[in-house]
Amino acid sequence: MTTAYYTFEQHFAHNTGDDHPEHAMRLLAIEQGLKQSGLWQELDIIQGSMAHTPDILRAHSHGYYDQLQLIQPEQGHIYVDEDTPMAPGSLEAALYSVGTCTQALDDVLHRDSQHCNAFVGVRPPGHHAEHKKSKGFCFFNNIAICGLRAADIHHLQRVLIIDFDAHQCNGTIDILANDQRFLICSSFQHPFYPNSHYQVGLHNNVLNVPMDAGTGSQEFRDKVTDAWDDAIRKFAPELILVSAGFDAHEADPMAELNLQDNDYTWLGNWIGEIAANRNTPVLSLLEGGYDLNALARSVVSYIRAMQ
Ligand SMILES: [Zn+2]
Repeated sequence: MTTAYYTFEQHFAHNTGDDHPEHAMRLLAIEQGLKQSGLWQELDIIQGSMAHTPDILRAHSHGYYDQLQLIQPEQGHIYVDEDTPMAPGSLEAALYSVGTCTQALDDVLHRDSQHCNAFVGVRPPGHHAEHKKSKGFCFFNNIAICGLRAADIHHLQRVLIIDFDAHQCNGTIDILANDQRFLICSSFQHPFYPNSHYQVGLHNNVLNVPMDAGTGSQEFRDKVTDAWDDAIRKFAPELILVSAGFDAHEADPMAELNLQDNDYTWLGNWIGEIAANRNTPVLSLLEGGYDLNALARSVVSYIRAMQ
């Protein structure tokens, strides 16, 4: 079995301007990190593809989808919300994001696949996008779209979603709250952006783990294992989807958690062990991570541990 790394060049067309933290260099830094570490040569590198509209419409409203096509600029930028810039190529990039993620999903779920583990280097990210609105650099919720495709098309009954980005996955919860086919485990800095759906016990399929600013390695590991281990064992997932954001790293300028490179090794090992128990496929989708060096090292640590 080989780990697959999915990518697509259409993301370059999502030009977010000079001063925006979410830009194409993030994916280039990851690729360079993978190459320098020697890991790139061990991965199957696969080019992504365009989304199928029905996949998007399982997670997002028709009105929102149509509106994005209508407001797409012919030049320059507009802001779809206060944080999310849209350039002439942004919608195509967002559609390739979705299509590449669902392509990787079908791959890890295919009975004869060589890949039971895949990482998608994707931008724009997805976990803040809600049913009817963009938010936090995100147009379409890649992970919720994959989850709904896994449940509706592949007929899975139990899909685990783990989100260790520093920011809470408001969009994923907005779309999948109270749908018992999903267990959503989210760790995040609190109080902090996006400040919604963060309460513990608010939805019966969501296990929120808020963390104070300054939380470091051991406290992070203890909190997530205490909150999630038993519930995940009982849930017995048939698929693990990971919103893999790396902005909880100490070096990241966008949040104030203090994870280190080896915490992403730990996360890769921990998720890999859950998967190994039942031969469960794992699909990880990039979310945040804005310090280029820390992002590249963290992704390398995580993928290496998952192998
Ligand atoms: Zn984030």
